[in-house]
Amino acid sequence: MMEPRPSVKRRNGMSGTDPEQSTSEPDAGIDGSGREPSERTAEESSARDERAAARPARVAGHSVTVGDLHAYYGATEAVKGISIKFPPNEVTAIIGPSGCGKSTMVRCINRMHEEIPGARAEGKVLLDDQDVYAADIDVTAVRRLIGMVFQKPNPFPTMSIFDNVASGPKLTGNKGENLRERVHKSLRAVGLWGEVKNRLDSPGIGLSGGQQQRLCIARTIAVEPEVILMDEPCSALDPVATLKVEELIEELKEQYTIVIVTHNLQQAARVADSTVFMLDGEVVEHGPTKEIFTNPKDERTERYVTGKFG
Ligand code: ADP
Repeated sequence: MMEPRPSVKRRNGMSGTDPEQSTSEPDAGIDGSGREPSERTAEESSARDERAAARPARVAGHSVTVGDLHAYYGATEAVKGISIKFPPNEVTAIIGPSGCGKSTMVRCINRMHEEIPGARAEGKVLLDDQDVYAADIDVTAVRRLIGMVFQKPNPFPTMSIFDNVASGPKLTGNKGENLRERVHKSLRAVGLWGEVKNRLDSPGIGLSGGQQQRLCIARTIAVEPEVILMDEPCSALDPVATLKVEELIEELKEQYTIVIVTHNLQQAARVADSTVFMLDGEVVEHGPTKEIFTNPKDERTERYVTGKFG
């Protein structure tokens, strides 16, 4: 049913690259904004090139399987028996009206839900075939492998840009000489390098909101996770910063499995391969994003995606 801690310590690179997938370079055609490459500004193109250069070949990702998951706050059941498979190297969006349990479900995946006093979860969450709720699992290792990006960018307020990104690797024991390289690489991978390379010692909170969110994503990927959970990552950002994060999500799935909670239906339509519609703690429908938005099977999904409720 489960394996002990050693396999929880797997690192992304150890899974190797998939030769069939390694040729899949990022889209050279239309970008996330729907504009032709010739219409991009020099700054956008150079940030995109910077991210592309920082990315290794596509890495075969890891799946997450949620099975009959129930989550409670005291006696209140917020997630009522959810089963979902999140495929590797794909973006899955979770949509649904406020309060339907999206954040709670996602926080159960990396065992953050149980940090809330009185909160508990039942059911299964598997990272590949490993039960992350097994008794002998190292919860810290689970949270390193399944990183999380929050709604409000939350750089450590007293830390510099460099130290914000370095904090994760340092906490997980990496104090070695490649720390600098890893920080630089993470900043490049999120397209921030060009914007911050001359002020790495300045405070992280001095950056704009969009830059701070990309800094937080850099901090998340600096510890080489396998899965990235994003809870409304763009809701505090302006449209331009949102577009940059969406482009980044599209690129990050080459290395990671991504689950994104969003109240922005257009965002789900733009970034997600598949979409889950939740209502009142349950999954109503899960399918390819295009189908959920254009040909949903359930009448409640249709009403939600056409703006008739929620
Ligand atoms: P969503 O992300 O879809 O907006 P949430 O997962 O945040 O929904 O909330 C699901 C339900 O759990 C809601 O009824 C909400 O009020 C409740 N809830 C969320 N967080 C807490 C908490 N810390 N304590 C008690 N109830 C909570």
